[in-house]
Amino acid sequence: MIEVPVTLSTVRRRVAYMLFIIVLTVSILIGRLAWLQIFRSEELYGAAWEQWNRSIPARSPRGAIYDRQGRMFAGSTTVDTVVAIPAQVENPGETAKELAPLLGLSESDLHEKLTMNCSSIYLKRKVPPEISQAVRELKLPGIIFTTEGQRYYPNGTLASQLLGFVGMDEGLAGLELYYEDYLKGKEGYLLFPCDNLNRPIPHEIKRFVPPKEGMDLYLTIDETIQYIVERELARAMIEFGPKGVMAIAADPHSGAILAAASKPDYDPLHYDRVDSKYWALPPVTASFEPGSTFKLVTLCAAIEEGLYNENEYFFCRGFASVGGHNLRCWTGSGHGSITYLQAVESSCNPAFINLGQRLGEEKLFSYIHAFGYGGLSGIDYPGESGGLIFEPEQVGPVELATSAFGQGVSVTPLQQLMAVSAIANGGYLMKPYLVKEICNMEGEIVYERQPEVVRQVISKATADKAAWIMENVTIRGSGMNAAIEGYRIASKTGTAEKVGPDGRYISGSYIVSFIGFVPVEDPRIVIYVAVDGATRGPQWGSQIGAPVFKWIATDVLTYMQVPPSEIDAPLAVPVQVPDLQGLSVHDAAAQLDTAGLMLRLVGEGQYIVNQTPKAGASVSPQTEIIVYLGEDDAFSGGTISVPDLSGFTVKDVGQVLSWLGLYLEAEGSGIALRQEPAPGTAVEQGEVIKVFFGTPLEQ
Ligand SMILES: [Zn+2]
Repeated sequence: MIEVPVTLSTVRRRVAYMLFIIVLTVSILIGRLAWLQIFRSEELYGAAWEQWNRSIPARSPRGAIYDRQGRMFAGSTTVDTVVAIPAQVENPGETAKELAPLLGLSESDLHEKLTMNCSSIYLKRKVPPEISQAVRELKLPGIIFTTEGQRYYPNGTLASQLLGFVGMDEGLAGLELYYEDYLKGKEGYLLFPCDNLNRPIPHEIKRFVPPKEGMDLYLTIDETIQYIVERELARAMIEFGPKGVMAIAADPHSGAILAAASKPDYDPLHYDRVDSKYWALPPVTASFEPGSTFKLVTLCAAIEEGLYNENEYFFCRGFASVGGHNLRCWTGSGHGSITYLQAVESSCNPAFINLGQRLGEEKLFSYIHAFGYGGLSGIDYPGESGGLIFEPEQVGPVELATSAFGQGVSVTPLQQLMAVSAIANGGYLMKPYLVKEICNMEGEIVYERQPEVVRQVISKATADKAAWIMENVTIRGSGMNAAIEGYRIASKTGTAEKVGPDGRYISGSYIVSFIGFVPVEDPRIVIYVAVDGATRGPQWGSQIGAPVFKWIATDVLTYMQVPPSEIDAPLAVPVQVPDLQGLSVHDAAAQLDTAGLMLRLVGEGQYIVNQTPKAGASVSPQTEIIVYLGEDDAFSGGTISVPDLSGFTVKDVGQVLSWLGLYLEAEGSGIALRQEPAPGTAVEQGEVIKVFFGTPLEQ
């Protein structure tokens, strides 16, 4: 092999070439470094941070919940949560031994956690400050702290079903659940750098990114009204021994809910100590048969359609025959001849069946839907019930009739509250709501609710008329026990038999209800009350629902500084029904006469074996007390000699016949001219006497 002589020029070329390569390589490296440093530094740093760092969420305190005036319903504090980083725990056995008594955990459980193969683990969440301080003082390696929000309710159980509650991390019921996204705030982090084996990286410090507090809710609820309502519901639980009671109140002009509650309720901090059925808010989430409070829909529809005349007479024989069924009036024995105004005052079922038939299916149901029944109101609360109204294809004559007086349908207290609010509000149905404002941490309003009209259901004239009729119910009808001296109150009672799981009525088990607004001339509040399955007192809205309404309204009117109304006629004073059982008809009549009450006899016999209303009930003067006679030998076989009725007014004839246990079928108006059967005829009790009324010819 021949060596090629290396010339100088060749050496220079090689050196130049090498230099070029070196410069190029360095340039590429510098460029790459610059690229990484300048353009991708954040991304890469982040990736490394992720590899080295372990983070534990630091949860924010939830936003507070206030009443309409800024009084606190729910607040939050920040508390510590104790966390272990197992790789950094130097002596798990000793650490577990020291922590066990402080955290109230077993040593073995702690030891297991402290030796787990994980980056970090909660030892105990949300510990009280004194515990947290004691743990800090131990200065145990591998034991760190993060913060979390801790809910508290300064009023205890007050408004618990409305507010709901929070679990360890989130709202689980009520407004706490519905407004979770606003209340929860933004999570922060506690970052602590580690290597792959979860060992601390020297010279790296822990970093804390604080959480952002949630937003605050301002409710439409008034804490004082809520308190009054709950206090009186608790009283009703004691006085009537029911399964449950509930109430809901609203400002009829805006649809703002002022109070809503039921008993039994629960403590939101210990929600797991009661059955979950108590977590809901029954005035919003429960639907059941309304009974007579629903008659207001039929009444308003009939007025609006020109089918109601309060002076017109109606004859109630205790039932109405519809489609082969006898639909009973609540009296059993019937109201006899009454005006349509009296039919509302005494809540006569057949009279309302008649109004329903006049309206017909299409009209009645269009009003039922227009008043908001059979659908959701859209209130800002989770789990609202829509109730159940007959579908058009289901409605035959019987369904039309029962719907007209509130049977066979299922509605919520909230729906009834809003329907009656529409009557109090000139015919305008409002959308109900619970939150009026949401504020951020800086106190700025981020959301403000305005009252919302759903639709005008009836004219102002119809609404005013219905309100006037409802006022009569309080003055002399079934709402009398709700009367408050000095105030004009519009009201309606309701009593509904409960339906069992098999869809049949449970005999003797009732939900009685009462709804009303005050004052009639400028309604400030609408209140609905229901008592479920009372075990003491007669199970009628007038006897149980009305007093609870009165207890609540009396204090609420004072609190709201509603001035008394200017009333022309003084209110009648309620009378206590005497105990008539075991008395003879003569003695009972004498007792009732003294008390200013009327008597109606049912059945045969000399002695009274039962009565309605029961002894002790308070009723308006002139109320008819129905007494049931027992089997006995002296009651002339139950036949009655028909009296001569000529010359009496319709009202007087009705009264005389009802005293005798006979029914009136009136024809015409004026005074009685003739009758069938003729005076002196012996008839059975319960017979119908037809009387022709007119203007007598001058003699
Ligand atoms: Zn009746």
